[in-house]
Amino acid sequence: MHKGRAKRQLSRIYKREKGICSWCKAPVPRDQASRDHVVSLKKGGTNDDSNVVLACKGCNALRNEEARSEPS
Ligand SMILES: [Zn+2]
Repeated sequence: MHKGRAKRQLSRIYKREKGICSWCKAPVPRDQASRDHVVSLKKGGTNDDSNVVLACKGCNALRNEEARSEPS
């Protein structure tokens, strides 16, 4: 994905979720906000807004770790 597009999407998602992490429901500082896929791209998820949620750094790292240890 183009970098500029990803940035704009993050802004949209951040506004949509009102700055709340979708996983732990904690407020996420704007500079620590990251996108997370509900259905991972590996499993056929898309980059569409409907498949992307706001995640704090901690949750994103945790989920990435789980994804890595998942048998494929
Ligand atoms: Zn979180």
